[in-house]
Amino acid sequence: MNYIMDQKFQDYFGKNLRQVFLYLVDDCNLRCVQCLYKLDICFQVEKKEIAFEDAVKLISDFKEMGATKLTLMGGEPTLYKHLLDLIKKSKELGYEYVRIDTNRTI
Ligand code: SF4
Repeated sequence: MNYIMDQKFQDYFGKNLRQVFLYLVDDCNLRCVQCLYKLDICFQVEKKEIAFEDAVKLISDFKEMGATKLTLMGGEPTLYKHLLDLIKKSKELGYEYVRIDTNRTI
């Protein structure tokens, strides 16, 4: 487990969080010109992905803070090997709306 919720973040939002955008993976099957995650610029973080346990802990904590909408992003989120399990978990936690931002080429 690598993730610890920042107390300042919790204090600021309290129970008023509504929407979460969660980056799952840096890698992508495309190399769009405008992309912030290209290999040759500093935003690229070595094709890493979030640990499944951390992702579950994050969406659990965000749900307790009031979040009801979840957007899963990358990179290309369909390259995240735990994507289906995470979607299932988010529905079990009670997220009303789960969206995936994908390039739809995989
Ligand atoms: S599809 Fe998105 S993440 Fe992939 S290279 Fe293009 S802009 Fe970047």
